Amino acid sequence: MIYKNAILFLLLLTLLSCKTTVHTDENLEKAKNVILLIGDGTGLSQISSAFYFKETSPNFARFNSIGLINTSSSQQNITDSAAGATAFASGIKTYNGAIGVANDSSEVKTLVEIVSPKNIKTGVIATSSIQHATPASFYAHVINRGLYEDIAVDMVHSDIDFFAGGGRKFFNKRKDGQNLLGDLEAKGFGIDTLALGNFEEVKQYSKMAYILAEDSMDPVAKGRGDFLPKATELGIQFLNKDEEHSNFFIMIEGSQIDWGGHANDADYLISELIDFDDAIGVALDFAEKDGNTLVLVTGDHETGGFTLSSTPKQTEEGKSYSDYNEITGTFSTTGHSATLIPVFAYGPGSEAFSGVYENTEIFHKIMEATNWSNRD
Ligand code: MG
Ligand code: ZN
Repeated sequence: MIYKNAILFLLLLTLLSCKTTVHTDENLEKAKNVILLIGDGTGLSQISSAFYFKETSPNFARFNSIGLINTSSSQQNITDSAAGATAFASGIKTYNGAIGVANDSSEVKTLVEIVSPKNIKTGVIATSSIQHATPASFYAHVINRGLYEDIAVDMVHSDIDFFAGGGRKFFNKRKDGQNLLGDLEAKGFGIDTLALGNFEEVKQYSKMAYILAEDSMDPVAKGRGDFLPKATELGIQFLNKDEEHSNFFIMIEGSQIDWGGHANDADYLISELIDFDDAIGVALDFAEKDGNTLVLVTGDHETGGFTLSSTPKQTEEGKSYSDYNEITGTFSTTGHSATLIPVFAYGPGSEAFSGVYENTEIFHKIMEATNWSNRD
């Protein structure tokens, strides 16, 4: 009798544990939308600068899941932005300069191409031209990042629903004489080449393009204003307008943090970083209200070997010392560096982004966090 009870008890235990397992699987939260913010050339010192130089609390401080990525490309220890963004957009390591193509120059599918047929709206925003390496890697395929006019053609043929940035001349002042702005219009794009509008004015368009500079946008310190956080807000509103029936993916790049690093100009770098942090704030505010949106912030690589050093000073007697009360941004290179890059994640599926892994995992982890690969 005791034996029989024991079997029943074990059976019950097995049943209960089975049920628990199933229950957990069902409850794994999947993200409906993904906002990927890329700080070009943004390593830990760049991020840290917001904690010392931003007047308000940095939005970087609002994340709980934090990881690190190795950003090396297929052929170089130190990546460029093309191979770096192709790793995020397509999940493969490729050579420096490659946009949406593998090591053997064959085309690889981008996240935008994979999810667009599944009724997932897509967008890209940059403070460079929209044909620059980072945004281009999400919709274009060229063997060399400098082929801006070819990249512009790929934008016309892509399924992108919203974009904002510079690069007008690659659409309408081309060597082949074509005006691709007409082609964009024919595809249903509302086009504004002057300024960001407001959502109510543009929501009737099926697609929207803001092409606000001939080439790159101005630096924030030279008149760009709040373009990046504003475009982030507008892009999210636009892609989320049919909230019930569609999901969205948007990539937002702080392009010029990298350029401040290349120029070894700490003021340029920090002002661009603070602007990028404002865009992160807009994304997080939306995600907090929405509850179904995964926000990821990372960088393609570090630029400048940037450090928040103490300021070298001399006493009245002429003795050198380091003033620990005053930070000076210093650099060790005018190029990129190989340092691991932080990843910040918020929202459903964010736990999967902690740990140390390769940059290509960003793509695979997004696909897992959303279940987009299993959708029809
Ligand atoms: Mg870039
Ligand atoms: Zn760079």
